[in-house]
Amino acid sequence: MPTPDSSDSCAHAFADHHIHGLAGVDFATSSTAEVRSALALLKSRRTTEVTASIPTVQRGHVQAMLDRLAPVFDDGLLTGVHFEGPFIAPEFAGAHPHQAILSPTEPAGQAFLGTLLAQHRAKPLVTMMTVAPELEGFATLVELLVSHGIDPALGHTNATYEQMRDGIEVVYQLTGRPVTITHLYNAMRGFHHREPGPLLAVFEAVEHKTVKVELIADGYHVHPSVISWWFEKYPESIRLVSDASAATLPSGCKPLSVALPMLGMAPLQYPKTAGPMLADGCTMASGARDLLAVHDALVAGGLDHETVCAAMRARHTA
Ligand SMILES: [Zn+2]
Ligand SMILES: [Zn+2]
Repeated sequence: MPTPDSSDSCAHAFADHHIHGLAGVDFATSSTAEVRSALALLKSRRTTEVTASIPTVQRGHVQAMLDRLAPVFDDGLLTGVHFEGPFIAPEFAGAHPHQAILSPTEPAGQAFLGTLLAQHRAKPLVTMMTVAPELEGFATLVELLVSHGIDPALGHTNATYEQMRDGIEVVYQLTGRPVTITHLYNAMRGFHHREPGPLLAVFEAVEHKTVKVELIADGYHVHPSVISWWFEKYPESIRLVSDASAATLPSGCKPLSVALPMLGMAPLQYPKTAGPMLADGCTMASGARDLLAVHDALVAGGLDHETVCAAMRARHTA
């Protein structure tokens, strides 16, 4: 069997807009120097444009996290910061800590937002926040985010079909740009013919080009046939993301830190058989491959490499 060829004639640079870290480094908690080393590793693996994803964390950690990332952003090595939470559905938290999940209308939620936006006004690092559209106060929250230049993405959600449909419409009307769906299929209801859930709303929106769909094509999060189906039907609506974490270790790479791999506050396990897990060993915690490994696996699986690259291409390079 041929080995995946990462040194093929295709030399496109990749953009990863949902990635928590790599090779022992967690963008939320590692030092600035460690973050720089992870970004250098990513660059050597053709991911030149990175949005650092912060999982759901407690308010007390927000300022220090943004302070650690600010110098890297100032040097042009980070495109921005993505907050995945805390305004998400507890029923679909995935690896995010339940105790840190908030409602936008409760005082603790308001306080979190106050801290985040005060930091953001001082230094506008934050580019995206994943929110669940069914939450009370959703419309006010997304209006506030957009007024600060932060794109609301929809995901980690218990939304019904109607709630997702309306949520997409609200955000699209505010931004005029396709709305990012955070890792479609993962951390949301599945499809049922009597309760079609968020998936039907996303499929309809794809037809109207009002969504951009994140897919984690690491071989574990979404069945390869589903990935192929998307590439066949709606390649222009896909944004491939790694959702990698400190416990994601590209083959042949050693951890860049001796510390336990973390996802924000949550300790992780390096993969044994499947992808990275929470330290409890039973919750899938992040993507198993960086974008170069995703690219190589998809191309080895028969997808056209130009089409694959178009779904992860960096803006600033050819
Ligand atoms: Zn997630
Ligand atoms: Zn994530």
